[in-house]
Amino acid sequence: MSPDTHLRVVPDPARSELDGEHRSVVVVGGGQAGLSVSRVLTDRGIDHLVLEAQTAGHEWNDRRWDAFCLVTPNWQCALPGFAYDGPDPDGFMVRDEITEYLEKFVASFDPPLVEGVRAESLRARGDGTFSLRTDRGTLTADQVVVATGPYQVARTPRMAERLPDSVTQVHSSQYRNAESLPEGAVLVVGTGQSGCQIAEDLHLAGRTVHLATGTAPRVARFYRGRDCVAWLSDMGTYTKGIDAFPDAEAVRHKTNHYVTGRDGGRDIDLRKFALEGMRLHGRLHRIDPGTVHFGPELRANLDGADAVAEGIKDSIDAWIEAQGIDAPTEERHAPVWEPEADEAEALDLAAEGITTVIWATGYGRDDRWIELPIFDGRGYPTHQRGVTSRPGLYFVGLPWQYTWGSGRFSGVAADAEYLVDRIVDTRRRTVADGLHWLAGTPSSTFPHDSADDPDWVAPRSAS
Ligand SMILES: Cc1cc2nc3c(=O)[nH]c(=O)nc-3n(C[C@H](O)[C@H](O)[C@H](O)COP(=O)(O)OP(=O)(O)OC[C@H]3O[C@@H](n4cnc5c(N)ncnc54)[C@H](O)[C@@H]3O)c2cc1C
Repeated sequence: MSPDTHLRVVPDPARSELDGEHRSVVVVGGGQAGLSVSRVLTDRGIDHLVLEAQTAGHEWNDRRWDAFCLVTPNWQCALPGFAYDGPDPDGFMVRDEITEYLEKFVASFDPPLVEGVRAESLRARGDGTFSLRTDRGTLTADQVVVATGPYQVARTPRMAERLPDSVTQVHSSQYRNAESLPEGAVLVVGTGQSGCQIAEDLHLAGRTVHLATGTAPRVARFYRGRDCVAWLSDMGTYTKGIDAFPDAEAVRHKTNHYVTGRDGGRDIDLRKFALEGMRLHGRLHRIDPGTVHFGPELRANLDGADAVAEGIKDSIDAWIEAQGIDAPTEERHAPVWEPEADEAEALDLAAEGITTVIWATGYGRDDRWIELPIFDGRGYPTHQRGVTSRPGLYFVGLPWQYTWGSGRFSGVAADAEYLVDRIVDTRRRTVADGLHWLAGTPSSTFPHDSADDPDWVAPRSAS
């Protein structure tokens, strides 16, 4: 498959005008989450439509860098009825393989998918149904599932505006490869999964890389003979519900652990990169035109990330021991590099030859098109396992919607099943309302208004 191959499901011309259409369920978003719900709805024979603003699964193809590969092992790709069955379950699919996996998933059940349609407004109607205005007409639905993705709007701090025009700025979602950046050194801001992997990509391409670190945790790739993900999966980590955490809302917004699946998978050890010439810094605090200022947190950030990785190994050790598993032992991680000083520092961009800044500073949501009172003070949807307080309105694909796997390939099938159960329950309740005849007709032997008449109240005693 060529690198720029996109998933294409040819829109049905008969469906191109959506005005006046009605469906039992409309799913907004045709990524893996929306498609998973569609698969379960299809299996249960529920009429529905999936609206996708671009092309199905386009996120993976259009917003990832060329060398991108999964961080999670392939065996965790378990979309409903479509678990990964390729030749390398312990490997990590590269971008084009992920696209192909999704393409085959779509082909496996032929969803009622309309591409190139953006939902622009969602409102409730007086009768409990929903009105969805799109750029191709307004349709109605009994129930709506919002599957518009966890990482929608590229987020950069406003201090970015203070960089000189001579510096090229890109968000991690726009980064493709080292060759497409201007010559010169690159400053990568952020050490979440994207920041670390992009810094590594540039480092491997021979670029001088400066990396502004944050507090993101780290996890080792392998430990005691297996991928840590395999151990953690056996330990039930990935199916643990969010309600088991006392700080559930905080958990939902925490940064992911950094590690890579590149070249069969390995650790990302920033200290090793530093030994090899990468310039590590504390957090980016401030930009004066021409100068970037970092805080004194580098040592704390590196130590913190390592402590989390070692803590995970501790829990794997405890599991191995408790289960009596015969696993090889392994030396623990030893820091190969330490920062020279714990001081704030400033870098002159021109003097350092920094020509590009990559903002690996995350994403936000934009749900303003949903005109319903279901959001918290930060504009984040409130829900229980994806079920909102508005009957018939659901979310799917949110990070930690219910489990670690909710916003990932591994857990979205369980969430889709759960939500479709709720959708079916809601349908049953609605349909039952229209079936008054099921309860029979008022009795003519004991008329309704005779309840107070002792001659008519049954059963009567013989005495
Ligand atoms: C850099 C990165 C690396 C990741 N690595 C992994 C990994 O290794 N393993 C893993 O399991 N997960 C990983 N994830 C997380 C997750 O699997 C992906 O983010 C995935 O794309 C989420 O799927 P989704 O269907 O929820 O959302 P998306 O894939 O974002 O799909 C949402 C869709 O909704 C459409 N849409 C949005 N608004 C509208 C609208 N108003 N009307 C109509 N359509 C709309 C969009 O066009 C999009 O196609 C990674 C995420 C990122 C960002």
